[in-house]
Amino acid sequence: MNLNKIKEAEAKHYMPVFARESLVIDHGEGNCLFDINGNKYVDFVAGIATNILGYNHPEYTEAVCNQVKKLMHVSNHYYTEIQSRYITRLCEASGFPRVFLCNSGAEANECAIKLARRYFKNHGGDKVILSAAGAFHGRTLATLTVTGNAAQHDRYSPLPQGFKSFSYNDFDDFKSKLTDEVGAVILETVQGECGVRPFSNDFLVNAYALCKSRGVLFIVDEVQTGMGRTGTLFSFEHFGIQPDIITMAKGIAGGIPMGACLATEEVGTAFSRGDHGSTFGGNALACAAADKVLEILLGGLLERAKETGVYLGNKLAYFSKYNFITDIRGIGLMRGIQLSDKVSAAAFEGRLREKGYLVNVAGGNTLRIIPPLTITEQEIDGLVAALDEICADTNV
Ligand SMILES: *Cc1c(COP(=O)(O)O)cnc(C)c1O
Repeated sequence: MNLNKIKEAEAKHYMPVFARESLVIDHGEGNCLFDINGNKYVDFVAGIATNILGYNHPEYTEAVCNQVKKLMHVSNHYYTEIQSRYITRLCEASGFPRVFLCNSGAEANECAIKLARRYFKNHGGDKVILSAAGAFHGRTLATLTVTGNAAQHDRYSPLPQGFKSFSYNDFDDFKSKLTDEVGAVILETVQGECGVRPFSNDFLVNAYALCKSRGVLFIVDEVQTGMGRTGTLFSFEHFGIQPDIITMAKGIAGGIPMGACLATEEVGTAFSRGDHGSTFGGNALACAAADKVLEILLGGLLERAKETGVYLGNKLAYFSKYNFITDIRGIGLMRGIQLSDKVSAAAFEGRLREKGYLVNVAGGNTLRIIPPLTITEQEIDGLVAALDEICADTNV
């Protein structure tokens, strides 16, 4: 099969929702992907912050293959040893005693929203959930409603009730919106899809303190920022805050679909039997993958990713010398390079690809860099050199 045939089939049969790159990926090895023509690309996209161990990681591949042969799925009608092992490891590592396992980021956030609402019922009745403009929390109807994208809201109205929003990083606005009707706040510490936009330390610390003083639940969406992406297991750790609920997905199982919603004992036990569920959620295959990922992360990769993340940040700072680069943002191995409107991030992405490097464009005109956590300093140097050549060649 060639590119045109594959494009044709997609255009004919897939619902026309994706704007895909003209690239057919065949396989991966280490931190690199190979297309069907044998071209090699160092991968700074990682399946959107998901393939945190890169490709064909020996220990991970072995654990997944062994689990496939042994048992993949039995539903939550029964117990499995591997789920038991994984939830114990995850709860110990995260400090949250309660977890629900599902299959995606949207589902993890949907669970967080349902859990918060269930909690409100026991604490004075129905409440509103407050979210940030520019946020991305998923594509189910409720998570779309807390996603700050007005065009999407118009397309799918009428939307579920009981949500309102505040301006990104604007504490005065946040404070004015945090009225008595609000029972929970949900945010990403670094807005990923919106172009790698971190909330300020001051905003997060103050918003958290205000929520605590009012008994408002603080929900952090760690779907993209979690699993070591920012140099700590979860991004909230940078700010000395302790959320009531966090959500995870993307890197959690190294590429096998999985999501998780974690909560304190008090909040996590607001659900009772029959309140929530999932057929696939936390199945044996996903748990075996996630358990190995977490073992590898805690066994040294997290420390290494923290260092590589600092290295990447230092290297990228260099690009501020180009006048068409207007901002360089992010933390750890989650970085964004904002380009001025005079140049096109999509064109930069294309030229990097020609040089054998994959990045993607997020939040308008921002190059997003979210490699596997196994990325090496040498591979980062390669990306930096390629980007520098493109920048030096760009006249604005
Ligand atoms: C990707 C993402 C989601 C949605 O995850 P899916 O697995 O695509 O449903 C939710 N929140 C954040 C912060 C994300 O980056």
